[in-house]
This record gives sequence, structure tokens and C-alpha cells, in this order.
Amino acid sequence: MDFDLTDEHKMIRDMARDFADEVIAPRSENMECTGEFPYDIIAQMAELGMMGIPFPEEYGGSGGDWVGEHVCMEEISRGDLTLGAMLDVTTSVAGQEIDVFGTEEQKKRWLTPIAQGTKIGAFALTEPDSGSDAGSLRTRAVPEGDEWVLNGTKQFVTNIGLDNASVVLVAAISGKDEEGNVVISTFIVPKDAPGFQLGKRYEKMSWHASATHEVILEDCRIPERNLLGDPSRGFAQHLAVLETGRISIAAMSVGVAQACLDQSLRYARERIQFGQAIFNSQAVQFKLADMSISIELARNQYLKAAWLKDRKRKHTFEASVAKVFGSEMLEKVASDAVQIHGGYGYMDEYPVSRYYKGAKLLQIVEGTSEVQRMIIGRILSTR
Ligand SMILES: Cc1cc2nc3c(=O)[nH]c(=O)nc-3n(C[C@H](O)[C@H](O)[C@H](O)COP(=O)(O)OP(=O)(O)OC[C@H]3O[C@@H](n4cnc5c(N)ncnc54)[C@H](O)[C@@H]3O)c2cc1C
Repeated sequence: MDFDLTDEHKMIRDMARDFADEVIAPRSENMECTGEFPYDIIAQMAELGMMGIPFPEEYGGSGGDWVGEHVCMEEISRGDLTLGAMLDVTTSVAGQEIDVFGTEEQKKRWLTPIAQGTKIGAFALTEPDSGSDAGSLRTRAVPEGDEWVLNGTKQFVTNIGLDNASVVLVAAISGKDEEGNVVISTFIVPKDAPGFQLGKRYEKMSWHASATHEVILEDCRIPERNLLGDPSRGFAQHLAVLETGRISIAAMSVGVAQACLDQSLRYARERIQFGQAIFNSQAVQFKLADMSISIELARNQYLKAAWLKDRKRKHTFEASVAKVFGSEMLEKVASDAVQIHGGYGYMDEYPVSRYYKGAKLLQIVEGTSEVQRMIIGRILSTR
């Protein structure tokens, strides 16, 4: 067994860590207050090769692996969670689906700018009446001549509201199989396709800079060649990349939890009560120790899942464990971080209040905690 990161992974981690500290973290509060997305930061991340780590160089990527991608995602999320979320959706989900299932032409046209970071990808599975039960979606795609015509509404779509978002991968019913079951296919829908409409931007509890929108497809016409992968396996393709998305959510959780610990340690050493630093109180030290224990375990778990993925080994169980453990760990760690900061922790001027508000979402997106436990339960039932 080897628990060491490679030199390349360490280089990515150190670069992303410095970037998060020097460029991202100082802007994070402003992003949350104004809701403005920092396009200049994406441009810098692109220059540093962070937008396409796991993709082949011939398609604009860095030719790295998924451990490297997630080490980067942890550090970026430590700086700001909405940037981690942007990176997850454009890389782990949208970019990967085009890379794995796309034709040569689709990869050149759509993946290359995503991997280079000049364009951002989005992913639309969720609908108003179809969330955890994602297979019950209603959006339809009908072939007409050399085009597909899509009708339906997708909701809660991350990234699509960004000015440089290029495409959204849409799951839609495209027909029925021989047994009469619906067939779901995936389509590459450019944001400028006729009939594509950006719906309302959601007002959220947190993650204000992340542009989450409804997407309305009304007789939306896309060329036949924008069908992605096997037309009968669109849903399976989506689920396959969401498995990676779960590792990403776990890495993001670890990044924010690490930020909570860093801030809490600093504060506990500085804050004097009863004539001494609160760090000297065992009750506070135990909280810090518990935070550190759970972060360590969550980090090991997401790295294990990513390592298995890099070796093309099955990692459904490990990815779900990483997601549910990491995201639930973060909620507790963020709450303890606010507690250690006392009343100041509730004030906007301290970043832990932002971490606390942002943390909840990670138990919901890309398969809720309940869905992860259903997946793990299903695996256990076969053992
Ligand atoms: C900010 C944000 C960004 C998002 N970005 C995207 C995106 O880019 N693309 C996209 O496609 N989606 C996106 N989503 C959607 C997200 O993936 C869904 O919200 C999530 O999958 C849950 O679906 P739902 O909200 O419909 O909840 P529901 O499925 O209605 O679930 C409600 C509750 O019931 C529980 N539940 C449901 N069924 C069961 C069951 N059988 N057993 C036990 N418990 C159950 C759930 O766990 C949950 O607690 C985003 C959501 C948010 C909030």
C-alpha cells in the first residue's frame, strides 16, 4: 500500500492551495454578498491548467488523473465553495460525459473549450417533478429530419447562467424499447440553440455567486449529431458521471471543513476568556480534535474512491460512502466552527458563518444522503 500523493499530485495541491489563499479566499465574502461570479478567477484557473486536469491533452486537458482533479477541487473549495461547485459540474460531470461518451467531433467542438476553461459546461437532469427519482423525468426529444426537437423544463441547473456557459447536457425521453419502457437519451444542447430559454435565476440560502437557473426547452432544435453516446443508455451515462460527481462533493466537503478547522484553530488561539486563550479549554480542544479526526477520515475516503476510479476499478460503494460521510461531516464541523467562534461566528464578517450556510447543500446535490444510503443498502443486499 502507498498512501503518498505523487509528486504531480503534490504540485497540483500546492498550486491550488496557494491560489485559493492568495486569489480566491480574499474575494469569497464579496462573491457571496454581491452574487457576482468572478470570471477573472476562472481565466486564471484556466491559465494554470485547473479546468481540464483529467482530460487528454489532445482535447485541451492536462492529461492528469482523478486524484489530481479532486486534490485541486478540495483546495479550490477551501477558498470558495461556489468555485468548487463550478469546477465539479463543468469537469467531473459535463466534461467527463462528453469525454467518455462523445464522438471525436463532439470532443473537439465541445470538450476542448471546457477543458481549456474558455467555456463552462452544465448538466440538467432534475425537473420540477423528478428529483431523487430522476428516471421519472418528462422532457421529451423527438427526431425531425436531421434534427432533434426537445420540449420540457429542467430546474436547479448549476453553471448554465454563467456568461461563458456553452452547453448543457440534457436527459430526455426519446422513445420506448421493445418492452414498452421509456428510453432516455442524452443531448448536447448549446445555450444558443433555437428554443432554448434561460429561466429564472434561483434566490438561494447561500452559494449566491453560483448562477443556478431553470432551463426551458420549447421546441428546442438541435442537430442530430448532438445526441451524446448510446441513445438507449443516456440515463446510465448520466448516472456513471454522477458517481464521479459524488467524489467531487466529498472533496469539496473536505475543503470547506478544512477551512472551518483552520479558522477555528486561529480563533481559539487568539480569543482570550477567563484570562487565557479558549484553545486551552479542553472542551474547545476536543471539538478541534473531533473536527480534525473526521476531516482526515473524509479525505482518505474521497482519495480512495478517486484512486479506484483512476484504476478503472468499481467504486460505486466508495463514492457514495465518501459523499454521505463527507457532506454530513461538513455540517457538523461547520456547526462546531461557529460554536468555537461564539457570537462572532454568527456575524458575516467571520467566514465560518458563510461556511455554515453553504454546507447544507452538499447533502442534497448529486444524490441526497438518503439516496446514497439507498445505493449503499442495495450493495449490502447483494453481499
Ligand atoms: C443549488 C442547487 C444546484 C443544483 N444543481 C443541479 C444541476 O446542475 N443539475 C441537476 O440536474 N440538478 C441539480 N440540482 C438538483 C439536485 O440534484 C436535487 O435537488 C436533488 O437530487 C434532490 O432532488 P429534489 O430536490 O427533487 O428532492 P426530492 O427528490 O423531492 O427529495 C425530497 C426529500 O425526500 C427524500 N427522498 C426522496 N425519495 C426518497 C426515498 N425513496 N427514500 C428516502 N428518502 C427519499 C430525499 O432524500 C429528500 O430528503 C441542484 C440543486 C440545488 C439545490
